Amino acid sequence: MFPIIGRLRCPICSEPVQPDEKVFFDIINTVMHQKCYYKFPRRLPIKDKGSLQKMLLKYPFFHQEDEED
Ligand SMILES: [Zn+2]
Repeated sequence: MFPIIGRLRCPICSEPVQPDEKVFFDIINTVMHQKCYYKFPRRLPIKDKGSLQKMLLKYPFFHQEDEED
């Protein structure tokens, strides 16, 4: 389905983000776990939120970029 699944890592905990996990999507297009966002001291404003799967469907650039290499 989306090759990025299992390879997209949360920048805060470094764990791969699972499709059904709740994430935040910030203004510089970073995806991170919602649970990790609150632990991170330098937070950017959030643009969107929901499960990773929902973000992938909503913002196709995540997986378009991935297909090139
Ligand atoms: Zn995380």
